[in-house]
Amino acid sequence: MEKREIYTVQNGKVVRSRRFCPKCGPGVFLAEHEDRLTCGRCGYSETKRK
Ligand SMILES: [Zn+2]
Repeated sequence: MEKREIYTVQNGKVVRSRRFCPKCGPGVFLAEHEDRLTCGRCGYSETKRK
């Protein structure tokens, strides 16, 4: 299975595919789930917008 990367490349440009945790700040990424994002460090969670 392909490992999920933090960055994805679209049309030759690097696009950040994950968001940082607003509580922990830059460097701590939110884990992506089917319908929400969660922080494994502080427990912050956010519903995904589509
Ligand atoms: Zn956090």
